[in-house]
Amino acid sequence: MFARTLFDADHDRWRDEVATFLSSDIAPHHDDWVVARKTPRAAWAKAGAAGLLARGLPPQFGGAGRDFRDSAIVIEELARQRIHGLLTCLQSDIVAPFVQRLGTEAQKQKLLPGMAQGEVLAALALTEPQGGSALSTMTTTAETRGDSLVLNGVKTHITNGSVADVVIVAAKSARGSIGDQPGLSLVLVETERPGVSQESIDKTGMAALDTGRITLNECVVPRSNLLGGEGMGFVYLMNFLGVERLVLAIYAQACAERILTELIRDCDARQTPEGSLLTHQSPRFSLAELYSECAVNRSFVDQCIPSVQEGRFDPKQACIAKLRTTATLKSLASLAVQLRGAGGISGESGARASQDLLDASVQSIWGGTSEILLDLIGRSMASGL
Ligand SMILES: Cc1cc2nc3c(=O)[nH]c(=O)nc-3n(C[C@H](O)[C@H](O)[C@H](O)COP(=O)(O)OP(=O)(O)OC[C@H]3O[C@@H](n4cnc5c(N)ncnc54)[C@H](O)[C@@H]3O)c2cc1C
Repeated sequence: MFARTLFDADHDRWRDEVATFLSSDIAPHHDDWVVARKTPRAAWAKAGAAGLLARGLPPQFGGAGRDFRDSAIVIEELARQRIHGLLTCLQSDIVAPFVQRLGTEAQKQKLLPGMAQGEVLAALALTEPQGGSALSTMTTTAETRGDSLVLNGVKTHITNGSVADVVIVAAKSARGSIGDQPGLSLVLVETERPGVSQESIDKTGMAALDTGRITLNECVVPRSNLLGGEGMGFVYLMNFLGVERLVLAIYAQACAERILTELIRDCDARQTPEGSLLTHQSPRFSLAELYSECAVNRSFVDQCIPSVQEGRFDPKQACIAKLRTTATLKSLASLAVQLRGAGGISGESGARASQDLLDASVQSIWGGTSEILLDLIGRSMASGL
């Protein structure tokens, strides 16, 4: 939809490969998964075999050692083909980097190849029932007892939470507190351990994507399951959550471009006595406003993508990217219902448009709500950063 300059011929070939795999192996089944409210595990193994998972990992850990643009292509193609059940970026670009950068050699060998193959499903558990926005109110604990850590607490709305084999759990620790901020540790918890229970949470938006509650009740793991240093969790999260926000912005932007393309096509096809819907100023201006927002967001996101690889990544830019792309996406999803008239809420087109609206609503909540992003941007503004 918009001219782009950040991909070369290899990237273009990879995009074709991903698009072909998704359209033949995943997209034809996705509506069924939405109805069933779950994505079969076999789909992850297929995605792994097709090389979609953890593409940036070095080959010795099962990846292809490719740059972040390859990951961006996977995320975009998922959005273009309206696939959310198999949101590979959680595993590939959010959880795997934690293990790759913070893990011991033994942790990496144990987890990363299986994650790249789609045989091991992983999750990142921060949010708790009393509120996901304030990490400082976290109540899950990781208490040291001899050579073990004992975990107690509840994590909720965790992507892949009811199906994950291993979860990075953020928990309060005795070490690492700063002022009234408790110390946090990141702990790898294998879900087959006694004391772990997982249940699925039913949702209206992104219904095929597993979202679960994880309860830890006197769950004992060896201290060697600590990911990185004890009590260092806040520092790690501050470093890693920025890339998570960029990943979510890439997905939101590609969703917005898909919805916009389909809406322009349908408005052009819809006839009124004076001509197509696009001949009328009001719908044309509404679309032009959002087309312009999308164009600006596209250039901003594309400017952020290479920064991940080039070591000049700016977390504030990722907050801005997620804030703006998800806001435009929600406006577009709402307009896409309105400009289809009754067809926006009935029949096949209505089912699609209404689902897009619900799915869009998720995107300004997960990975840091828009209000929290505004707060972060505002604080950095005030401190002159
Ligand atoms: C589909 C889905 C997948 C998710 N996946 C994961 C996952 O994999 N791992 C994980 O840990 N979490 C995950 N989450 C949880 C998500 O990160 C939280 O929902 C989010 O952080 C908001 O937390 P909350 O829902 O508890 O809302 P709350 O924190 O209770 O917030 C409710 C409202 O109050 C506003 N608010 C709260 N505090 C402030 C403040 N200080 N200033 C201004 N406004 C404020 C919020 O912006 C929001 O509008 C997922 C959520 C969804 C919907």
